[in-house]
Amino acid sequence: MNGVAQQLRLVPFLDLAPTTSEVRERVISMWQEVLDRTAYVGGPYVQDFEQRFAAYCGTSEAIGVGNGTDAIQLGLRALGIGAGDEVIVPANTFVATVEAIVLAGARPRFVDVDPDTLLITADAVRAAVTPATRAVIVVHLYGQLPDMDSLTETASALGLVLIEDAAQAHGASWRGRRAGSFGAVGCFSFYPGKNLGAFGDAGAVTTSHPEVAAKLRAMRDHGRAAGSHHSHEELGTNSRLDTMQAIVLDAKLDRLEAWNRSRRRLANAYRNLLTDSRAVPVAELPRSRGAHHLAVVQVDRRDEVRQRLASQGVVTGIHYPTPCHLMRPYRQYADRDFPVAERAAGRVLSLPLHPHLSMEDVAYVADRLREVTGSWG
Ligand SMILES: *Cc1c(COP(=O)(O)O)cnc(C)c1O
Repeated sequence: MNGVAQQLRLVPFLDLAPTTSEVRERVISMWQEVLDRTAYVGGPYVQDFEQRFAAYCGTSEAIGVGNGTDAIQLGLRALGIGAGDEVIVPANTFVATVEAIVLAGARPRFVDVDPDTLLITADAVRAAVTPATRAVIVVHLYGQLPDMDSLTETASALGLVLIEDAAQAHGASWRGRRAGSFGAVGCFSFYPGKNLGAFGDAGAVTTSHPEVAAKLRAMRDHGRAAGSHHSHEELGTNSRLDTMQAIVLDAKLDRLEAWNRSRRRLANAYRNLLTDSRAVPVAELPRSRGAHHLAVVQVDRRDEVRQRLASQGVVTGIHYPTPCHLMRPYRQYADRDFPVAERAAGRVLSLPLHPHLSMEDVAYVADRLREVTGSWG
């Protein structure tokens, strides 16, 4: 800096206003139409969105549900996974993945992750499998699919059902094939901050198995048999996608590719600007095209770095500070340590990233990060 005062910028971690503006008028006019028609749950707008989202993901069906946690829980239940079954899950994930397994009545079986990508590996799955293991949940954490060739091969060789937690990976792909199309089911969240976000809670399950889809359609609606109001043939719940949210999602789906392209450009800029710095971006696999939900670096003295960035106007996040196997409700399922996930929990830092972030902001964040970490001996 040579003593020249750097002008302070304020860089928020996330800004939902610009993506909201892009769909605002269309959403408001369609919402008004719904208010006139008074059909608030189900109906053609939900079906249209489900069909378009399935086509986007490359599956034959998508079933809208209330949120991403329900998508995983109902996905497991629709596949017949529950009491007495073990489900392999990476220790480094958002709590909801593990929560959903327990809510479905099954037992999480934790595995450690790769130190560079922080994603699940086929080797870890092979080492963890027991006679009680029925399924593996592959989490596309931060928006990146892990090596799906080895994971699908390993799951099928071991007789495990593969389920995708694609809550951070709308539009991401592995060798050109989109997230949500690899597993028996793909589970999505449309929480407002996700790459495809509603104006409230929402989620979806993708599948190309018609019988699983039919079961999910019944389960999300009190177990109702198709076309019936009073015949309840499954143990279900209430986890429907409402019309208002389907309208938002349908409008935003048109923009998702452009938004993901912008995220990729910004994430690549971070990567270039941080080359040879002490903040190391999470590794990208050459065959994986990420949705860049989060721009995560690994850095020593993370909490101090985070605080010093905050004092320079840069707001960051941590995904996640505590690995799931160390959380109170889930400790009972861990029979060993998971050193990679544990170390990463103290070193991961998520930099500001959203489709309308400016390149100037990215440069400012990278400069401050280099400054803060470069000042150490
Ligand atoms: C957001 C998220 C979920 C849960 O989604 P909700 O809609 O909040 O229930 C599950 N898994 C991962 C990896 C997530 O990021």
